[in-house]
Amino acid sequence: MALAIFQFPCLSDNYGVLIHDEASGRTASIDAPDAAAVTAALAQTGWNLTEILTTHHHPDHTDGNLALKEATGCTIVGPSYEAAKIPGIDRELTEGDVYDFAGHPVHVIWTPGHTLGHIAFFLPEDGVAFAGDTMFALGCGRVFEGTLLQMWESLQKLAALPDETVVYCGHEYTESNLRFALTIDPANEALIARGEEIKKLRAAGKPTVPTTIAAEKATSPYLRASDPAVKATMKMVDASAADVFAAIRTAKDNFK
Ligand SMILES: [Zn+2]
Repeated sequence: MALAIFQFPCLSDNYGVLIHDEASGRTASIDAPDAAAVTAALAQTGWNLTEILTTHHHPDHTDGNLALKEATGCTIVGPSYEAAKIPGIDRELTEGDVYDFAGHPVHVIWTPGHTLGHIAFFLPEDGVAFAGDTMFALGCGRVFEGTLLQMWESLQKLAALPDETVVYCGHEYTESNLRFALTIDPANEALIARGEEIKKLRAAGKPTVPTTIAAEKATSPYLRASDPAVKATMKMVDASAADVFAAIRTAKDNFK
């Protein structure tokens, strides 16, 4: 049976997500940015938390772990490479592991860059992925711990998922990402059209997340680093896609 998915904003610009399997009653929180916000989402849905799937150790993804575990007895799973930094972790996952969520296979994809142990979750039978702070709508996470090349390779793993995959991510950064994307890829008609849609959604107070792999491949400057138009704007026509990506990500760090 299809998963039920409930996304809610929390903290200043984070998203929390609950996934629920009706038959078993199991409910997982993708990260736990804030215990109160997750608890409120559980009350609103009437679901009982059974597990937390952690993408990476940053406090705005794990601060709710211990309080939620204490309140619900949930199991906490997360990346083995940074297990020491994940409060309350019970089970460690790494590249290629398949976690069973109530009969829904959850494929673990190691996506280092933003943090060294960061993992994303892909549920092929449900056509959905949870990218944490690796991929955002029109964006990618800041590279704090890994290298720019690692982040490029991590994004390539996600870009290789089926086009129709629905991608949830950790933050609502899309309007800022859009302003930057238009400086890198100003003639991209798909980006321009998506930009209009994004402005409408945000003006109405609506989320721009989730996105899809197809939309990101067509409009995210980070995934279009091999495109001649993007290379031309970056004045890097002969450079590798990985180098162009690195230059774009670095430019974003300094973009106001
Ligand atoms: Zn983070």
